[in-house]
Amino acid sequence: MIVYEAIQTSHNERDLQTNPIMIPTIKCKVCDGGELKPASVYKTSKLLAIMGYLLMIPSALILAFLTLIVIVGIVQNNAGGAVFGIGIAIVIGFICLPVFIVGFLLRMKRSVLKCNACGSVVNRE
Ligand SMILES: [Zn+2]
Repeated sequence: MIVYEAIQTSHNERDLQTNPIMIPTIKCKVCDGGELKPASVYKTSKLLAIMGYLLMIPSALILAFLTLIVIVGIVQNNAGGAVFGIGIAIVIGFICLPVFIVGFLLRMKRSVLKCNACGSVVNRE
């Protein structure tokens, strides 16, 4: 069994402290001593998630920039230059879009329950 590293946000921790009654305590089945707390972990490993951000952020910026170029090209409506610019924008866009999607998928998180004693991760039902 692969135990993923939990990425618990400070927001979640604050909620647990201010609303302790809201979250029922569930005993850990693995170590029989710890409590399972809500947490979110990356679907992939932490390293792949970081790679996901590195792929997603530049490709998102490039896609935003290309959208701007296409809009400017359409607004200006000067045949030769605009068509050439839009052509290049579409080609680069076709490369950046899959990169963006891969990056997005790599950094997706899932909601789990994590033991505060042994660190076991259980899927949240
Ligand atoms: Zn445990």
